Amino acid sequence: MALDLHEIEQKWQKKWETDKVYKFDEQSKKPPFTIDTPPPTVSGIMHMGHAFAFSQQDFIARYKRMRGFEVFHPMGFDNNGLATALMVEKKLKIRQNDYSREEFVKLVLKHTVGQEKAMEESFRGIGLSFDWDLLYRTIDELAQKTAQYSFLDLHKHERVYQKEAPTMWCPSCGTAVAQAELEDKEVESTFNDIVFKTKDGKEIVIATTRPELLSSCVAVFVHPTDKRYEKLVGQKLKVPLFDIWVPVIKDPRADPEKGTGIVMCCTFGDQTDMEWYMAHSLPMVISIDQHGRMTEQAEKYKGMKIKEARKAIIEDLKEQGLLKEQKPIKHSVNVHERCKTEMEILHTRQWFVKYLELKDEFIVKADAIRWIPKHMKARYDNWVKGLQWDWCISRQRYYGIPFPVWYCKKCHEVAVADEKQLPVNPLKDKPLGKCKCGSNEFEPETDVLDTWFTSSLTPQINGHWAEKTKLFEKIFPMDLRPQGHDIIALWAFNTIVKSLFHQGKMPWKNIMVNGWALDSKGKKMSKSLGNVIAPKEMIDKYSADVLRYWAGLPTIGEDIPFQEKEMVAGKKFLTKLFNATRFVDGASKDLGKVDVKKLKLWPEDKWMLSRLNNLEQGATKAMDKYEFSKVLNPTRNFFWLEFADYYIEMVKHRIYGEENESKKAAQYVLRKVMQDTLLLLAPFVPHITEEIAQTMFKDVFKEKSVHLEKWPEGNKEKVDAKLEETALLAISIIAAIRKDKSGQGRPLNTPVKVATIKVVEPEKVEEWAETIKQTMKIEDIKFEKAEALSIELKF
Ligand SMILES: [Zn+2]
Ligand SMILES: [Zn+2]
Repeated sequence: MALDLHEIEQKWQKKWETDKVYKFDEQSKKPPFTIDTPPPTVSGIMHMGHAFAFSQQDFIARYKRMRGFEVFHPMGFDNNGLATALMVEKKLKIRQNDYSREEFVKLVLKHTVGQEKAMEESFRGIGLSFDWDLLYRTIDELAQKTAQYSFLDLHKHERVYQKEAPTMWCPSCGTAVAQAELEDKEVESTFNDIVFKTKDGKEIVIATTRPELLSSCVAVFVHPTDKRYEKLVGQKLKVPLFDIWVPVIKDPRADPEKGTGIVMCCTFGDQTDMEWYMAHSLPMVISIDQHGRMTEQAEKYKGMKIKEARKAIIEDLKEQGLLKEQKPIKHSVNVHERCKTEMEILHTRQWFVKYLELKDEFIVKADAIRWIPKHMKARYDNWVKGLQWDWCISRQRYYGIPFPVWYCKKCHEVAVADEKQLPVNPLKDKPLGKCKCGSNEFEPETDVLDTWFTSSLTPQINGHWAEKTKLFEKIFPMDLRPQGHDIIALWAFNTIVKSLFHQGKMPWKNIMVNGWALDSKGKKMSKSLGNVIAPKEMIDKYSADVLRYWAGLPTIGEDIPFQEKEMVAGKKFLTKLFNATRFVDGASKDLGKVDVKKLKLWPEDKWMLSRLNNLEQGATKAMDKYEFSKVLNPTRNFFWLEFADYYIEMVKHRIYGEENESKKAAQYVLRKVMQDTLLLLAPFVPHITEEIAQTMFKDVFKEKSVHLEKWPEGNKEKVDAKLEETALLAISIIAAIRKDKSGQGRPLNTPVKVATIKVVEPEKVEEWAETIKQTMKIEDIKFEKAEALSIELKF
């Protein structure tokens, strides 16, 4: 029977599903272990990062199940919000504004259905042990209800407010965004030395990368200690091209080393402009609109796009002799992480979650969570420390979850939905009561909620918190949040914020932060670099278990370059596992019932059992600490380098020999090691272990799946360190004899007349004499005391 991994995998995936092996039983008496699964964005494709991270999450889920927990392991898809809408816009080459809101939402939803199906198939294909009946989506009714319920709860506790304020704005997506959605991007730009003039016509040169903002210039700043401009402070300067006069103000935020040391402040060019605007109560002048076009304020440049205006203004400055010099520079700008467009700061009306004053609390309270690996907590802390804005949660988009909010047409008071109405669509539904002013006429809020406003509620969605179920009490706080390090600021942080506001506690006990799957050279995989390796390709070529094996090799949190040679090695290992089991099965099939205490064990038997218990103890400790690579690597090495390479060879003579107690003991140990090895490997390579368990070990594995068997914890009492040490010596003697034989060109099973073993402490290995003799076909064996190990063979 040849080993066909693909056939095995499909067979067991189907069987697990029909047998509901991973079904979560709410009524179970077992303690629950609950996992807050990250919902991948519905893009139609499972990429290598998914395969990598989800496999690691699955190792833990399977392990906990074997440890006797009732594992709550839902799968989710993120089909809500901007990411989804942008994906559909890009795929179909459309823009939301080409459609009515209703049409656009329908289009996006329709498109995501097919994408989700394709993804579901890929995720099933790597054998993840989800209870698919718990599947959730971030746009479905339950998520809508939960998000709106969360809003109502925050509203009740005055944690949300609405304000006209400067906000981060993406001109391409046409919406406000939150600080967490910004990315730094290094861009090439030009420093333009532009001439401002004093009242008496003196030229003052100011360097700027954004001359298109000249019409919204409200002040210029110099550093308080900058002698060059001391006399200017308090005077007014004329802005070039426009009839605008602005004051010169001193402020330590002006960098004397940058440009000419004197800098213009426009409302708003960047974050510092905002700070100046607040600190010095400057007027607000708006020259860019919500779609990234110049406003009336920009006079003749009105209607131009930002970059067009920049070009035109530079031309005009040149013509009028107001441009002194241009220097190319590279600097870092804020871009929108979704579309990479440079951010603007616009003054708009938005909804915010108020939390800036709680930064310290967010840091301290999150210490109650175990961060795996530990250093990821520092990334979280740094993010929280750097927070400068309250959380802007409104998006000026069509697709997303609506605010449960209306405004009174008469007095403009906010009216929120009643809990009973959820999920509510204010565009169609009406508030249940009248406004305080007596009016019955309302205007709906047309903005939608930030997608993270909903994604930050995954524990609450999965526990049906908004429906006030018992399930929520059972699963919250959740045991484990697995997620990537790139979204600590977005997902981990926002989820912590929400749970703290709603439940007054942390959402999980543990957070396991996975690293990235990189290309073979350690670069991030990306379409533009052409270095993307699709998991499907690797599964087709090697199998899902082999891909999972690869995901089990690195330490948690570590980025790992994808090396195909590891897939080759993984496949080799699985083949070895399969072949060795078939040997063991054949050699021990007739064992029957044994009384373990009465077995006559040889030193190698005791050694194997000691090693096995040692390994199991270490594996249990490591898995409890989420250090799965400290299980997979040692188990593979034990199985291959000790059990297969030595133990099996040592006991062959007993297996093929007479029926007696010695044979029984060997058979017992062979079977025991094989059986426990399967259990240790089951979380990592679930298909092949199931196949072996169900076809060859049905006598010992009584559950319907190996994944419902008990994890072998190992027994300290059964570890014999001394024996393991002498075993190493016996092994090195056998290795030396093997080397000698093959060095002389003789087959390994060539009989030896006399073997003289010179060794430092002969008394230590004498009890292994019979084992060594039988393994290496030696007639007579002699031990002599010597300074170092050496052997002499006579044939
Ligand atoms: Zn954008
Ligand atoms: Zn009113």
